[in-house]
Amino acid sequence: MGVVKVNCSFCGKEMECPKHMLKKIGSHMCFECLNNVENIQDKNKFEEDVKAGRIHIDIPTSEMKKHLPEIFAEQMTEQVFDKLWEEREKEVKNLDRKNLAKEMFSEGIFNAIYNLFENPEFNGKFDLNEIFKEREINL
Ligand SMILES: [Zn+2]
Repeated sequence: MGVVKVNCSFCGKEMECPKHMLKKIGSHMCFECLNNVENIQDKNKFEEDVKAGRIHIDIPTSEMKKHLPEIFAEQMTEQVFDKLWEEREKEVKNLDRKNLAKEMFSEGIFNAIYNLFENPEFNGKFDLNEIFKEREINL
């Protein structure tokens, strides 16, 4: 699998990009800039670009493995929580705190598993196979 040298669109640092990604990618971001993402000027545009897959972010494999669970958890929560809360709010309102937490935790796990394997819409937005292929991660 070929990689090419590119420059980070945000700080100019040299970084690598898998060749096959070049066509669909508008800009690149190095890992250091990702860690300073709070300082980006146009945060909304950045988030839009990330969602649309227009930014290639170079995350070292070791870091990727460390952060994947967190990234997935955030993405999935963003995508399903509001809808879930709307559907279940009345049903769970009489539960005590512990049982409410347990119920939502269980829903979360269910949604994570369901979304990873069954939901084509979710897979389109966040393609696990693509990510692993690009970063050559072997599970
Ligand atoms: Zn950078």
